[in-house]
Amino acid sequence: MEPIFTPALHKQRHQFVIDFVKRNRPRKVVDLGCGECSLLKKLKFHREVEVLVGVDIDGAKLKKCMHGLAPIPTDYLQPTYDQLHIELYQGSVTQNDPRLRGFHLVTSIELIEHLTLPDVERFSEVVFGYMIPAEVIISTPNSEYNPLLPGLRGFRHSDHKFEWTRAEFQSWAVKVSSEYGYEVEFTGVGEAPPGQQERVGYCSQIAVFHRLRGRDGCNILFADDAEDLLSYTLLYTVNYPSLHDNNILRRVLVSEVIYWTEKLKRRWREVRTEERDESIVWCQTAAEGDECFRSSECGAEINRLMEHCGRYMAENQEEEVFGTKGQGKQESCRLQRCVSIPLAVLWTSCPKVSALSGNLSNLRHLLTTDPEVKLSQDGSSLLVDLQEQDLEEEGDHDLEDSGYTEVSQCSYSAAQEEDWEPNV
Ligand code: SAH
Repeated sequence: MEPIFTPALHKQRHQFVIDFVKRNRPRKVVDLGCGECSLLKKLKFHREVEVLVGVDIDGAKLKKCMHGLAPIPTDYLQPTYDQLHIELYQGSVTQNDPRLRGFHLVTSIELIEHLTLPDVERFSEVVFGYMIPAEVIISTPNSEYNPLLPGLRGFRHSDHKFEWTRAEFQSWAVKVSSEYGYEVEFTGVGEAPPGQQERVGYCSQIAVFHRLRGRDGCNILFADDAEDLLSYTLLYTVNYPSLHDNNILRRVLVSEVIYWTEKLKRRWREVRTEERDESIVWCQTAAEGDECFRSSECGAEINRLMEHCGRYMAENQEEEVFGTKGQGKQESCRLQRCVSIPLAVLWTSCPKVSALSGNLSNLRHLLTTDPEVKLSQDGSSLLVDLQEQDLEEEGDHDLEDSGYTEVSQCSYSAAQEEDWEPNV
C-alpha cells in the first residue's frame, strides 16, 4: 500500500515527528510501540534530544534492532558537548513504569490500533494521567482513506483491532484532552489525490496534544514513584560520548596536546636543519640578556609557539633544568632529553586546547592525572621526550648550543640524580 506515497508513508510519519522535534526541541523523548526503532535511529541525530527511550511489547524485535542505536566511531573520535542517553524497554503501554515519567515528548506512531478498546483506555491513563508529558503525538490509520488504497480488504494490518474515521479519532482525543488537561490539534500525512482531501482526509491521521498549565480537577495519578513497580524490562542502554564527561574531555584534550607537541617537535627538527644551513640566526639581545629566535619564514602559529618555547627554554635552562650554569654538569646529568613546552604558551597558541580546557589551571589539572603526559615538577610545562630518532637525526654534536631546551629530567629530585648514568 505504502509505495503509492512519495516519500513512503511511514517515512512521512517519522518526518512529521522530526520536524516537530526540530521546532520544539524537547530534551527527553519516548517512543511508545517503537517497533524496529527506525524513528529512534533518526531522532538520535537530533542532538537537542538528550534522553531517548523506546518501549515495545515485542522484546525479540527490540533485541534484533537495538545495536543500530549504538554510537558510531565518529561519536568517539570527535565527541561534542552534546549529551545523549538511550534506553530500550520491553513492556506494555497499558502499564505504568516510573522511569517513563517526566518526559517532554511522547510519540505513539501507528500503535493504538494494535490495542483493544479497553487497552486504549488504559493507554490513555498511562500516557496522559501518569507519564504526563508536555506534548504527545499520536498517529493512527484514517479508515476513510481505505477505499483509495489499491487491493485493500479489511484492515491495513492483520493485527489491527480497529481503524477509526476522523470523527472517531477526534472524539477520543478531545475526550482524553478534557479529562487530563490537554489541548489537541489534528493533522496528518499522506495526502489524498487532488480534489479528494476534504472528503477522505489524510491516510495517516495525527493528533498533537499540548499539556495545559494548571490542570486542577483533571485525572492525574499522583503516584509516589518510589512505590511504583518497575514493570518494564530494560533491554538496552547506552551513553553517547560527550565532552561533559571529564574522562572523554581529558582524552580529547590529551590527543590535541600530543598532536601539537608532535608538530612542534617536527618543526623543531626542521629548524635545526635550517639552522645548520645558516638560514636562521640566533642573536643575543643585550638589554634583556635573552635569546630570541628569528626566521624569515616565521609568522605561522607554529613558529610563534616555537619562538615562545625557545625563549622560555632559554630562560629556564639554567635554574629549572640543570640547576647550574656549568657545562660539565649539564653533560654529566643528561639521562633522557626532553623539550619543555610551557602550558601557558600551549594554551594561548592552540585554539582547540584553550577551548577544551577553558582556563590554564584547568588545563594543568586535566593533564596532571594523565599517564601519557609528563609535566615539569612545578606543573607549568609539558615535557616531551626526544625519541631515539630525534636524537639520531640531530646527532649529539650540537645539542648543547642550540638555544632550545634539551632538558634533562635530572632536575626532578636529588635522589634521582644519584642514580643517573650518563648515556652519552
Ligand atoms: N511505531 C513503529 C511501529 C508501529 S507497529 C513505527 O512507526 O514504525 C506497532 C508496534 O506496537 C509493534 O512493534 C508492536 O509490537 C507494538 N505494540 C503492540 N502492542 C503493544 C503494547 N501493548 N505495548 C507496547 N507496544 C505494543
